[in-house]
Amino acid sequence: MRAALIEEFGTTPVVTDVPEPAPRPDGVVVRVQATGLCRSDWHAWSGHDDGVTLPHVPGHEMVGVVSEVGRDVRRVAVGDR
Ligand SMILES: [Zn+2]
Repeated sequence: MRAALIEEFGTTPVVTDVPEPAPRPDGVVVRVQATGLCRSDWHAWSGHDDGVTLPHVPGHEMVGVVSEVGRDVRRVAVGDR
């Protein structure tokens, strides 16, 4: 899949291909249709967030459609927005 990727803190992210994610047993994969970037992403890009490791895909404020569900997921289905 295509994603913006931060490879080094403070440098221009690159748009590149990254491996397709797999859902955790209690999680889902969302095919992202749009995302915003916020100040948290700026802190991640700047290297201020100890929880962010590189390479990092920014954009945690997203919308999209569920494309896969984990085996323990009951209330969300493929195709849900
Ligand atoms: Zn945010």
